[in-house]
Amino acid sequence: MRVYRAREKESGRDVFRRHIGLPGEQHQLAGELICWKCQARVGPVRKGTRQGTETPAHYRLWQRMKHDLGCPLDPTATIEHIAHGSHGLATVDEQGILRLNLPEKLTDIPPLHLGGDAVPDDVVTSTTTTVNPLLPPAVNSAVQIARFLQLHDFDDDIVKRFKVQTHQGQLIGWPQFCYGPARITYATLYKRRRAHEVLSHPVAVFGTIVHIRHDKKERRPYAVLAVNVPAGDEVFHVTLRSMYPPLIEPLSVGMHVLAVGAWDHFDGGFTPALRMFAEEHWQIAYWTTDETTGAVSDPACPRPLTAQDRTRLHDKRQHDLRPTRATKLAKGNEVTPQPHAPATPKSDSSSMRKRPAVPAAPRDTPGGDRSTRADDIARPPRPRRTGHRTITAAG
Ligand SMILES: [Zn+2]
Repeated sequence: MRVYRAREKESGRDVFRRHIGLPGEQHQLAGELICWKCQARVGPVRKGTRQGTETPAHYRLWQRMKHDLGCPLDPTATIEHIAHGSHGLATVDEQGILRLNLPEKLTDIPPLHLGGDAVPDDVVTSTTTTVNPLLPPAVNSAVQIARFLQLHDFDDDIVKRFKVQTHQGQLIGWPQFCYGPARITYATLYKRRRAHEVLSHPVAVFGTIVHIRHDKKERRPYAVLAVNVPAGDEVFHVTLRSMYPPLIEPLSVGMHVLAVGAWDHFDGGFTPALRMFAEEHWQIAYWTTDETTGAVSDPACPRPLTAQDRTRLHDKRQHDLRPTRATKLAKGNEVTPQPHAPATPKSDSSSMRKRPAVPAAPRDTPGGDRSTRADDIARPPRPRRTGHRTITAAG
C-alpha cells in the first residue's frame, strides 16, 4: 500500500515525496512515520522501477500493519464507500472484495430495488447515489476505483480486491477490465486487439497524458498516453481521440485519464497505435494530482456534446463526401461512404442511442487522423482490410 504523504509521529509534521530524497540522498525525515490520516505506521520507499514502469517515491504501510478503522486510505472503508455510490452496481462480498457489475450498456442504471434473488445473501448492496461528475454509475465507480488504486500505486494486493463482472456474468480481475498505467498492460491490450480478439465487455484504459497533439490536416486535438510502448518486435503509441474536439479540448499534459470504450488496434499510421475514439463525454474522466503533495483533484469529464457539435461534424463530413459522391454517382455505383469518410454523425448518434456502451469507432478517419506522430508525413489512405475490425462488444 503506497501513498505520497505521511506524518512524523513525534512532531506531527506532514511529509511528502520530496522528503524521501532521491537514491543516494539522505531522507529528510525524523523518527517514526505514520499515515497522514491515522496512526498506522508507514515507511519511506525511494523511487524505482516496477514492471518496466517508473514508480515514484512513496510511503508504504509497514508489513502486517493496517489503517485505523475509518481512515480514508483504508481499502475496506473505500470499498464500502464506492459500493454506496454505485447505484447498486458495485457490491462487496464477505472477503471485502468489491465487484463492479457492468450493465449491458454502460449508461444503464439498474432498478433501485433489485429482486431478492438478484443479490446473493452474502453481498452488501446500497443504492445511495452520487453521480458527480455527470458520469453513468458504472463509469463513475470505475473512476473511483482507478483513483483509489492510483493512490496505492496499483499495489498488487490492493488491485486484487477489485473485480469486474461482465453483463454476461463472467467474473474478471480489475486488470482485465482496466489497462494501465504499467506499459506492459497497454501491450497486453494492444496484442489482444491486434490479434482481433473479440472482447465481450467494454474496456477502460487508465494513464497520464504525456502529449497533446493535433492532426496534421484537421487540426483536431488528441491526447497521447504513452509513446513507443514495446509489444514483441514492434512499438506502438496509446492515443485518445475523438471526432469531436470538445471531448479532447479539456485535457492537458499531466492529467490522469480513464477512458472507457472501443479501444482498438490501428496500424495505418507511421507508428501503430492502441487508440480510442470517444463519441460521448462520459467515456472520458480526468483528474490531476499535485506532484508535491500527492493530493488528488476531483474527477471531471468533458461537457456533454450538443446537437450543434454533432451537426458541425455532420456538415463537415457531408462537405468532405461531396466530390466522392459525385464521382461515385457518375460511375453509377451504389453510394456508400468511402473508407476515409466516416459514417455520418446521424447514424453514429442513432447507433449510440441504441448501444451507448459500444461507441462505434469511426470506420476510418480523414487522412490527417491517420498519423500518430506529429511529425508524420501525410500518407494516402491504405486500402482497409475489412471484416476483421471488431468493436468492443457489450452484447
Ligand atoms: Zn491511515
